[in-house]
Amino acid sequence: MNKPPANARNLAHYWMPFTANRQFKATPRMLTAARGMFYDSDDGRSILDGTAGLWCVNAGHGRPEIAHAVENQLNTLGYAPCFQMGHPAAFDFAEQLAGIAPGGPDAGLDRIFFTNSGSEAVDTALKIALAYQRAIGQGTRTRLIGRERGYHGVGFGGISVGGLVNNRRVFPSLPGTDHLRHTHWLERNAFTRGLPRYGAELADDLTRLVALHGAETIAAVIIEPVAASTGVLLPPHGYLERLRAICDEHGILLIFDEVVTGFGRLGSPFAVDYFGVKPDIVTTAKGLTNGMIPMGAVFASRQIHEAIVVGPETEIEFYHGYTYSGHPAACAAGLATLSIYKEEGLLTRVTQLADLWQNTLHEFQSRPGVIDVRTIGLMAGIELDPWQKPGQRAYDVLVECFKRGLLVRVTGDTIALSPPLIAEPSHIERMASILGEVLDTHQ
Ligand code: PMP
Repeated sequence: MNKPPANARNLAHYWMPFTANRQFKATPRMLTAARGMFYDSDDGRSILDGTAGLWCVNAGHGRPEIAHAVENQLNTLGYAPCFQMGHPAAFDFAEQLAGIAPGGPDAGLDRIFFTNSGSEAVDTALKIALAYQRAIGQGTRTRLIGRERGYHGVGFGGISVGGLVNNRRVFPSLPGTDHLRHTHWLERNAFTRGLPRYGAELADDLTRLVALHGAETIAAVIIEPVAASTGVLLPPHGYLERLRAICDEHGILLIFDEVVTGFGRLGSPFAVDYFGVKPDIVTTAKGLTNGMIPMGAVFASRQIHEAIVVGPETEIEFYHGYTYSGHPAACAAGLATLSIYKEEGLLTRVTQLADLWQNTLHEFQSRPGVIDVRTIGLMAGIELDPWQKPGQRAYDVLVECFKRGLLVRVTGDTIALSPPLIAEPSHIERMASILGEVLDTHQ
Protein backbone atom coordinates (compact mmCIF):
# COMPACT_ATOMS: atom_id res chain seq x y z
CA MET A 1 0.00 0.00 0.00
CA ASN A 2 1.44 3.36 -0.91
CA LYS A 3 -1.10 5.39 1.08
CA PRO A 4 0.27 7.03 4.22
CA PRO A 5 -0.68 5.14 7.36
CA ALA A 6 -3.57 6.58 9.34
CA ASN A 7 -1.34 7.94 12.05
CA ALA A 8 0.39 10.15 9.46
CA ARG A 9 -2.92 11.78 8.58
CA ASN A 10 -4.31 14.80 10.40
CA LEU A 11 -7.33 13.43 12.25
CA ALA A 12 -8.24 16.60 14.12
CA HIS A 13 -10.79 18.17 11.84
CA TYR A 14 -13.25 15.50 10.85
CA TRP A 15 -15.93 15.27 13.54
CA MET A 16 -17.07 11.69 13.12
CA PRO A 17 -20.75 10.77 13.44
CA PHE A 18 -21.95 8.27 16.05
CA THR A 19 -18.33 7.68 17.04
CA ALA A 20 -16.33 7.91 20.22
CA ASN A 21 -14.04 10.41 18.49
CA ARG A 22 -11.23 10.51 21.04
CA GLN A 23 -11.08 6.76 21.33
CA PHE A 24 -11.19 6.27 17.56
CA LYS A 25 -8.49 8.81 16.89
CA ALA A 26 -6.20 7.14 19.42
CA THR A 27 -6.44 3.87 17.46
CA PRO A 28 -8.02 4.61 14.08
CA ARG A 29 -9.49 1.94 11.83
CA MET A 30 -9.30 3.18 8.27
CA LEU A 31 -10.92 1.63 5.20
CA THR A 32 -9.39 2.70 1.92
CA ALA A 33 -10.97 0.61 -0.85
CA ALA A 34 -13.57 -2.10 -1.35
CA ARG A 35 -14.55 -4.79 -3.86
CA GLY A 36 -17.23 -7.40 -3.62
CA MET A 37 -17.33 -8.76 -0.06
CA PHE A 38 -14.11 -7.14 1.15
CA TYR A 39 -12.71 -3.84 2.31
CA ASP A 40 -9.01 -2.96 2.23
CA SER A 41 -7.63 -1.37 5.37
CA ASP A 42 -4.89 1.24 5.25
CA ASP A 43 -2.40 -1.23 6.68
CA GLY A 44 -2.92 -3.44 3.66
CA ARG A 45 -5.28 -6.04 5.10
CA SER A 46 -8.40 -7.49 3.58
CA ILE A 47 -11.46 -7.14 5.81
CA LEU A 48 -14.52 -9.30 5.22
CA ASP A 49 -17.58 -7.06 5.30
CA GLY A 50 -19.98 -8.65 7.74
CA THR A 51 -22.27 -5.63 7.78
CA ALA A 52 -22.73 -4.50 4.14
CA GLY A 53 -21.21 -1.19 5.19
CA LEU A 54 -24.04 0.07 7.38
CA TRP A 55 -26.70 -2.38 6.15
CA CYS A 56 -26.59 -0.75 2.74
CA VAL A 57 -24.16 -2.32 0.25
CA ASN A 58 -26.53 -5.11 -0.69
CA ALA A 59 -25.02 -5.83 -4.13
CA GLY A 60 -21.46 -5.79 -2.82
CA HIS A 61 -18.77 -3.17 -3.09
CA GLY A 62 -17.36 -1.28 -6.03
CA ARG A 63 -20.01 -2.16 -8.59
CA PRO A 64 -18.67 -0.55 -11.78
CA GLU A 65 -22.13 -0.53 -13.40
CA ILE A 66 -23.29 1.92 -10.74
CA ALA A 67 -20.16 4.05 -10.94
CA HIS A 68 -20.48 4.30 -14.73
CA ALA A 69 -24.16 5.15 -14.60
CA VAL A 70 -23.43 7.96 -12.14
CA GLU A 71 -20.56 9.25 -14.24
CA ASN A 72 -22.70 9.28 -17.39
CA GLN A 73 -25.50 11.04 -15.60
CA LEU A 74 -23.19 13.68 -14.11
CA ASN A 75 -21.70 14.29 -17.54
CA THR A 76 -25.19 14.73 -19.01
CA LEU A 77 -27.17 16.50 -16.31
CA GLY A 78 -25.45 16.97 -12.98
CA TYR A 79 -28.29 18.84 -11.34
CA ALA A 80 -31.76 20.10 -12.14
CA PRO A 81 -34.13 21.92 -9.78
CA CYS A 82 -36.74 19.48 -8.55
CA PHE A 83 -39.39 22.03 -7.58
CA GLN A 84 -41.71 22.71 -10.52
CA MET A 85 -39.12 21.12 -12.88
CA GLY A 86 -38.52 17.53 -13.82
CA HIS A 87 -35.71 15.44 -15.25
CA PRO A 88 -35.98 12.00 -16.83
CA ALA A 89 -33.94 9.95 -14.34
CA ALA A 90 -36.27 10.76 -11.43
CA PHE A 91 -39.39 9.72 -13.33
CA ASP A 92 -37.67 6.61 -14.71
CA PHE A 93 -36.43 5.55 -11.30
CA ALA A 94 -39.83 6.09 -9.68
CA GLU A 95 -41.45 4.03 -12.45
CA GLN A 96 -38.94 1.20 -11.99
CA LEU A 97 -39.41 1.24 -8.23
CA ALA A 98 -43.18 1.15 -8.69
CA GLY A 99 -42.66 -2.12 -10.55
CA ILE A 100 -41.24 -3.78 -7.41
CA ALA A 101 -43.23 -1.72 -4.89
CA PRO A 102 -43.80 -3.28 -1.45
CA GLY A 103 -46.66 -5.76 -1.51
CA GLY A 104 -46.83 -5.95 -5.33
CA PRO A 105 -49.15 -4.07 -7.67
CA ASP A 106 -52.32 -4.83 -5.70
CA ALA A 107 -50.99 -3.13 -2.59
CA GLY A 108 -50.83 0.16 -4.50
CA LEU A 109 -47.84 1.45 -2.52
CA ASP A 110 -46.39 3.01 -5.63
CA ARG A 111 -46.38 6.76 -5.21
CA ILE A 112 -42.78 7.59 -4.53
CA PHE A 113 -41.20 10.63 -2.85
CA PHE A 114 -37.40 10.91 -3.00
CA THR A 115 -35.19 12.07 -0.14
CA ASN A 116 -31.45 11.97 0.56
CA SER A 117 -31.32 9.62 3.53
CA GLY A 118 -33.28 7.33 5.77
CA SER A 119 -33.75 10.08 8.35
CA GLU A 120 -35.27 12.33 5.72
CA ALA A 121 -37.46 9.49 4.47
CA VAL A 122 -38.81 9.04 8.00
CA ASP A 123 -39.55 12.71 8.55
CA THR A 124 -41.15 12.85 5.09
CA ALA A 125 -43.33 9.82 5.89
CA LEU A 126 -44.49 11.37 9.16
CA LYS A 127 -45.38 14.59 7.35
CA ILE A 128 -47.25 12.67 4.64
CA ALA A 129 -49.27 10.98 7.39
CA LEU A 130 -50.17 14.34 8.94
CA ALA A 131 -50.98 15.88 5.56
CA TYR A 132 -53.20 12.93 4.69
CA GLN A 133 -55.17 13.03 7.91
CA ARG A 134 -55.77 16.72 7.43
CA ALA A 135 -56.72 16.26 3.78
CA ILE A 136 -59.45 13.78 4.68
CA GLY A 137 -60.87 16.05 7.36
CA GLN A 138 -59.14 14.38 10.29
CA GLY A 139 -56.98 17.35 11.23
CA THR A 140 -57.17 16.57 14.94
CA ARG A 141 -55.04 13.51 14.29
CA THR A 142 -51.57 14.89 14.92
CA ARG A 143 -50.15 12.37 17.37
CA LEU A 144 -47.36 10.12 16.13
CA ILE A 145 -46.67 6.77 17.79
CA GLY A 146 -43.34 4.97 17.66
CA ARG A 147 -41.88 2.16 19.68
CA GLU A 148 -39.31 1.70 22.41
CA ARG A 149 -36.01 0.58 20.90
CA GLY A 150 -37.11 1.86 17.53
CA TYR A 151 -34.54 3.64 15.39
CA HIS A 152 -35.82 6.03 12.78
CA GLY A 153 -32.82 8.20 12.08
CA VAL A 154 -31.81 11.45 13.64
CA GLY A 155 -34.22 14.13 12.43
CA PHE A 156 -36.42 15.63 15.13
CA GLY A 157 -39.34 13.56 13.82
CA GLY A 158 -37.25 10.40 13.81
CA ILE A 159 -35.86 10.80 17.33
CA SER A 160 -39.30 11.69 18.65
CA VAL A 161 -40.90 8.47 17.45
CA GLY A 162 -37.66 6.55 17.98
CA GLY A 163 -37.04 4.81 21.24
CA LEU A 164 -33.35 5.24 22.01
CA VAL A 165 -32.58 7.17 25.13
CA ASN A 166 -29.21 8.33 23.83
CA ASN A 167 -30.92 9.90 20.83
CA ARG A 168 -33.45 11.62 23.04
CA ARG A 169 -31.92 12.69 26.34
CA VAL A 170 -30.07 15.72 24.97
CA PHE A 171 -32.56 16.75 22.29
CA PRO A 172 -36.21 17.66 22.76
CA SER A 173 -38.87 15.47 21.19
CA LEU A 174 -41.80 16.73 19.20
CA PRO A 175 -44.84 17.23 21.38
CA GLY A 176 -47.62 14.70 20.93
CA THR A 177 -45.60 11.54 20.46
CA ASP A 178 -45.93 8.28 22.34
CA HIS A 179 -44.52 4.77 22.19
CA LEU A 180 -45.48 1.12 22.12
CA ARG A 181 -43.31 -1.24 24.12
CA HIS A 182 -40.57 -3.05 22.22
CA THR A 183 -40.87 -6.73 21.38
CA HIS A 184 -37.53 -7.91 22.72
CA TRP A 185 -38.58 -10.48 25.30
CA LEU A 186 -35.43 -12.33 26.24
CA GLU A 187 -36.89 -14.32 29.12
CA ARG A 188 -39.46 -16.01 26.91
CA ASN A 189 -38.01 -15.99 23.42
CA ALA A 190 -34.23 -16.39 23.73
CA PHE A 191 -32.66 -18.58 21.02
CA THR A 192 -35.92 -18.97 19.09
CA ARG A 193 -35.31 -19.96 15.51
CA GLY A 194 -37.49 -17.90 13.22
CA LEU A 195 -40.04 -15.48 14.61
CA PRO A 196 -40.43 -15.37 18.39
CA ARG A 197 -43.42 -17.27 19.65
CA TYR A 198 -44.44 -14.90 22.42
CA GLY A 199 -45.43 -11.29 22.35
CA ALA A 200 -48.06 -10.69 19.64
CA GLU A 201 -50.19 -9.15 22.38
CA LEU A 202 -47.64 -6.34 22.75
CA ALA A 203 -49.39 -4.84 19.70
CA ASP A 204 -52.35 -4.19 22.01
CA ASP A 205 -50.30 -1.35 23.47
CA LEU A 206 -51.83 0.63 20.64
CA THR A 207 -55.30 -0.07 22.00
CA ARG A 208 -54.11 1.27 25.35
CA LEU A 209 -52.77 4.42 23.71
CA VAL A 210 -56.08 4.87 21.89
CA ALA A 211 -57.87 4.59 25.23
CA LEU A 212 -55.42 7.05 26.77
CA HIS A 213 -55.29 9.72 24.07
CA GLY A 214 -58.40 9.15 21.92
CA ALA A 215 -58.17 7.70 18.42
CA GLU A 216 -59.11 11.07 16.96
CA THR A 217 -55.74 12.46 18.07
CA ILE A 218 -53.57 9.73 16.52
CA ALA A 219 -52.30 10.10 12.95
CA ALA A 220 -49.90 7.22 12.51
CA VAL A 221 -47.81 4.47 14.04
CA ILE A 222 -44.29 3.88 12.75
CA ILE A 223 -42.27 0.75 13.39
CA GLU A 224 -39.41 -1.16 11.83
CA PRO A 225 -40.88 -4.56 10.90
CA VAL A 226 -37.52 -5.92 12.09
CA ALA A 227 -35.72 -3.46 14.35
CA ALA A 228 -32.17 -3.47 13.04
CA SER A 229 -29.90 -0.89 14.66
CA THR A 230 -31.13 -1.64 18.14
CA GLY A 231 -30.09 -5.27 18.06
CA VAL A 232 -31.96 -7.19 15.34
CA LEU A 233 -35.27 -7.53 17.16
CA LEU A 234 -37.82 -9.70 15.39
CA PRO A 235 -41.59 -9.25 15.45
CA PRO A 236 -43.33 -12.05 17.36
CA HIS A 237 -45.67 -14.30 15.35
CA GLY A 238 -48.89 -12.40 14.66
CA TYR A 239 -47.65 -9.07 16.03
CA LEU A 240 -47.65 -7.15 12.76
CA GLU A 241 -51.06 -8.50 11.77
CA ARG A 242 -52.46 -7.47 15.10
CA LEU A 243 -51.01 -3.98 14.86
CA ARG A 244 -52.47 -3.60 11.35
CA ALA A 245 -55.92 -4.64 12.59
CA ILE A 246 -55.86 -2.13 15.45
CA CYS A 247 -54.76 0.65 13.10
CA ASP A 248 -57.63 -0.21 10.74
CA GLU A 249 -60.12 -0.25 13.55
CA HIS A 250 -59.15 3.26 14.62
CA GLY A 251 -58.30 5.07 11.36
CA ILE A 252 -54.58 5.16 12.22
CA LEU A 253 -52.01 4.95 9.43
CA LEU A 254 -49.32 2.28 9.67
CA ILE A 255 -45.81 3.17 8.52
CA PHE A 256 -43.13 0.51 8.05
CA ASP A 257 -39.60 1.84 8.26
CA GLU A 258 -37.82 -0.44 5.78
CA VAL A 259 -34.59 1.52 5.56
CA VAL A 260 -32.77 -1.70 6.47
CA THR A 261 -35.22 -4.45 5.48
CA GLY A 262 -35.94 -3.00 2.02
CA PHE A 263 -34.23 -4.40 -1.07
CA GLY A 264 -33.77 -8.05 -0.31
CA ARG A 265 -32.38 -8.23 3.23
CA LEU A 266 -35.04 -10.75 4.30
CA GLY A 267 -35.10 -12.71 1.04
CA SER A 268 -38.02 -10.81 -0.42
CA PRO A 269 -37.95 -7.34 -1.96
CA PHE A 270 -39.44 -5.78 1.19
CA ALA A 271 -40.51 -6.89 4.65
CA VAL A 272 -44.04 -6.11 3.49
CA ASP A 273 -43.70 -9.03 1.07
CA TYR A 274 -42.01 -11.25 3.64
CA PHE A 275 -44.65 -10.80 6.33
CA GLY A 276 -47.65 -10.25 4.04
CA VAL A 277 -48.81 -7.28 6.09
CA LYS A 278 -49.54 -4.09 4.18
CA PRO A 279 -48.78 -0.72 5.73
CA ASP A 280 -49.91 2.60 4.26
CA ILE A 281 -46.44 4.11 3.89
CA VAL A 282 -42.98 2.54 3.60
CA THR A 283 -39.67 4.31 4.09
CA THR A 284 -36.48 3.12 2.38
CA ALA A 285 -32.87 4.24 1.80
CA LYS A 286 -29.53 2.35 2.05
CA GLY A 287 -29.97 -0.57 -0.43
CA LEU A 288 -31.91 1.77 -2.71
CA THR A 289 -28.61 2.85 -4.27
CA ASN A 290 -26.40 0.10 -2.90
CA GLY A 291 -25.06 2.72 -0.49
CA MET A 292 -22.97 4.25 -3.26
CA ILE A 293 -24.85 7.56 -3.42
CA PRO A 294 -26.98 8.90 -0.55
CA MET A 295 -30.69 8.54 -1.21
CA GLY A 296 -33.98 7.65 0.43
CA ALA A 297 -37.46 7.01 -0.93
CA VAL A 298 -40.92 6.95 0.61
CA PHE A 299 -43.56 4.67 -0.91
CA ALA A 300 -47.07 5.95 -0.19
CA SER A 301 -50.37 4.36 -1.10
CA ARG A 302 -52.31 5.66 -4.07
CA GLN A 303 -55.13 6.53 -1.70
CA ILE A 304 -52.86 8.78 0.35
CA HIS A 305 -51.40 10.37 -2.74
CA GLU A 306 -54.84 11.02 -4.25
CA ALA A 307 -56.11 12.60 -1.05
CA ILE A 308 -53.20 15.04 -0.82
CA VAL A 309 -52.63 15.84 -4.48
CA VAL A 310 -55.87 17.73 -5.11
CA GLY A 311 -56.91 21.35 -4.96
CA PRO A 312 -56.52 24.42 -7.17
CA GLU A 313 -54.26 23.69 -10.11
CA THR A 314 -51.45 26.06 -9.24
CA GLU A 315 -51.31 25.24 -5.53
CA ILE A 316 -48.43 23.24 -4.07
CA GLU A 317 -50.18 20.25 -2.51
CA PHE A 318 -47.47 18.99 -0.19
CA TYR A 319 -45.30 21.72 1.20
CA HIS A 320 -42.19 19.62 1.52
CA GLY A 321 -39.08 18.68 -0.45
CA TYR A 322 -35.30 18.88 -0.56
CA THR A 323 -33.01 20.67 -3.01
CA TYR A 324 -31.61 17.25 -3.82
CA SER A 325 -34.86 15.21 -3.88
CA GLY A 326 -34.44 12.81 -6.78
CA HIS A 327 -30.93 14.05 -7.52
CA PRO A 328 -29.91 12.93 -11.02
CA ALA A 329 -26.78 11.13 -9.78
CA ALA A 330 -28.72 9.32 -7.07
CA CYS A 331 -31.46 8.29 -9.50
CA ALA A 332 -28.85 7.00 -11.95
CA ALA A 333 -27.21 5.03 -9.14
CA GLY A 334 -30.62 3.68 -8.12
CA LEU A 335 -31.55 2.64 -11.65
CA ALA A 336 -28.24 0.81 -12.07
CA THR A 337 -28.63 -0.79 -8.63
CA LEU A 338 -32.10 -2.03 -9.46
CA SER A 339 -30.83 -3.56 -12.72
CA ILE A 340 -28.18 -5.46 -10.77
CA TYR A 341 -30.72 -6.65 -8.22
CA LYS A 342 -32.95 -7.93 -11.01
CA GLU A 343 -30.22 -9.48 -13.18
CA GLU A 344 -28.58 -11.25 -10.25
CA GLY A 345 -31.80 -12.16 -8.47
CA LEU A 346 -30.53 -10.44 -5.33
CA LEU A 347 -33.92 -9.39 -4.01
CA THR A 348 -34.75 -13.02 -3.31
CA ARG A 349 -31.27 -14.58 -3.13
CA VAL A 350 -31.25 -14.70 0.64
CA THR A 351 -33.85 -17.48 0.60
CA GLN A 352 -31.06 -19.77 -0.67
CA LEU A 353 -28.74 -18.78 2.17
CA ALA A 354 -31.22 -18.53 5.00
CA ASP A 355 -30.89 -22.10 6.30
CA LEU A 356 -27.12 -22.05 6.29
CA TRP A 357 -27.17 -18.61 7.90
CA GLN A 358 -29.56 -19.66 10.62
CA ASN A 359 -27.77 -22.93 11.37
CA THR A 360 -24.33 -21.34 11.40
CA LEU A 361 -25.30 -18.46 13.63
CA HIS A 362 -27.36 -20.51 16.04
CA GLU A 363 -24.26 -22.57 16.81
CA PHE A 364 -23.11 -19.59 18.83
CA GLN A 365 -25.76 -20.51 21.35
CA SER A 366 -23.28 -22.82 23.05
CA ARG A 367 -20.55 -20.18 23.46
CA PRO A 368 -20.06 -18.85 26.95
CA GLY A 369 -21.70 -15.51 27.57
CA VAL A 370 -23.99 -15.63 24.54
CA ILE A 371 -27.48 -14.95 25.87
CA ASP A 372 -29.45 -14.88 22.63
CA VAL A 373 -29.11 -15.49 18.91
CA ARG A 374 -31.63 -13.93 16.55
CA THR A 375 -31.65 -14.50 12.81
CA ILE A 376 -33.92 -13.59 9.96
CA GLY A 377 -33.12 -13.35 6.26
CA LEU A 378 -29.46 -12.36 6.11
CA MET A 379 -29.44 -10.52 9.44
CA ALA A 380 -28.32 -11.74 12.81
CA GLY A 381 -28.04 -10.42 16.33
CA ILE A 382 -25.82 -12.23 18.81
CA GLU A 383 -26.47 -10.84 22.23
CA LEU A 384 -23.73 -11.07 24.82
CA ASP A 385 -23.89 -11.03 28.53
CA PRO A 386 -22.07 -7.73 29.16
CA TRP A 387 -20.53 -9.08 32.39
CA GLN A 388 -18.85 -5.81 33.32
CA LYS A 389 -19.77 -2.51 31.72
CA PRO A 390 -22.71 -2.64 29.27
CA GLY A 391 -21.47 -2.45 25.70
CA GLN A 392 -17.80 -2.93 26.59
CA ARG A 393 -17.47 -6.60 25.73
CA ALA A 394 -19.30 -6.16 22.42
CA TYR A 395 -17.06 -3.21 21.57
CA ASP A 396 -13.96 -5.27 22.40
CA VAL A 397 -15.28 -7.98 20.08
CA LEU A 398 -15.68 -5.42 17.28
CA VAL A 399 -12.09 -4.25 17.72
CA GLU A 400 -10.70 -7.78 17.83
CA CYS A 401 -12.76 -8.92 14.82
CA PHE A 402 -11.40 -5.99 12.85
CA LYS A 403 -7.85 -6.97 13.79
CA ARG A 404 -8.57 -10.47 12.51
CA GLY A 405 -10.17 -9.30 9.26
CA LEU A 406 -13.90 -9.11 9.91
CA LEU A 407 -16.14 -6.06 10.09
CA VAL A 408 -19.03 -6.48 12.52
CA ARG A 409 -21.41 -3.94 13.96
CA VAL A 410 -22.17 -3.50 17.60
CA THR A 411 -25.33 -2.14 19.12
CA GLY A 412 -25.35 -2.19 22.89
CA ASP A 413 -24.43 -5.75 23.87
CA THR A 414 -25.42 -7.24 20.55
CA ILE A 415 -23.13 -8.09 17.65
CA ALA A 416 -25.11 -7.42 14.47
CA LEU A 417 -24.26 -9.14 11.20
CA SER A 418 -25.77 -8.29 7.80
CA PRO A 419 -23.33 -9.07 4.99
CA PRO A 420 -23.90 -8.06 1.37
CA LEU A 421 -26.53 -10.21 -0.33
CA ILE A 422 -23.90 -11.57 -2.73
CA ALA A 423 -22.31 -13.52 0.14
CA GLU A 424 -21.30 -17.09 -0.64
CA PRO A 425 -21.45 -19.91 1.92
CA SER A 426 -17.66 -19.68 2.30
CA HIS A 427 -17.98 -16.05 3.43
CA ILE A 428 -20.59 -17.00 6.00
CA GLU A 429 -18.37 -19.76 7.32
CA ARG A 430 -15.39 -17.43 7.51
CA MET A 431 -17.42 -14.85 9.35
CA ALA A 432 -18.55 -17.41 11.87
CA SER A 433 -15.06 -18.79 12.33
CA ILE A 434 -13.47 -15.39 13.03
CA LEU A 435 -16.28 -14.35 15.34
CA GLY A 436 -16.09 -17.70 17.12
CA GLU A 437 -12.34 -17.31 17.75
CA VAL A 438 -12.88 -13.81 19.06
CA LEU A 439 -15.71 -14.80 21.38
CA ASP A 440 -13.55 -17.60 22.73
CA THR A 441 -10.77 -15.17 23.56
CA HIS A 442 -13.12 -12.51 25.00
CA GLN A 443 -14.87 -14.49 27.68
N1 PMP B 1 -34.51 4.12 9.80
C1 PMP B 1 -33.90 2.96 10.04
C2 PMP B 1 -34.72 1.74 10.32
C3 PMP B 1 -32.50 2.89 10.03
O1 PMP B 1 -31.89 1.74 10.31
C4 PMP B 1 -31.76 4.05 9.73
C5 PMP B 1 -30.25 4.04 9.68
N2 PMP B 1 -29.61 3.01 10.25
C6 PMP B 1 -32.46 5.23 9.49
C7 PMP B 1 -33.83 5.23 9.52
C8 PMP B 1 -31.73 6.50 9.21
O2 PMP B 1 -31.12 6.47 7.98
P1 PMP B 1 -29.94 7.51 7.64
O3 PMP B 1 -28.80 7.15 8.52
O4 PMP B 1 -29.71 7.28 6.17
O5 PMP B 1 -30.47 8.87 7.90
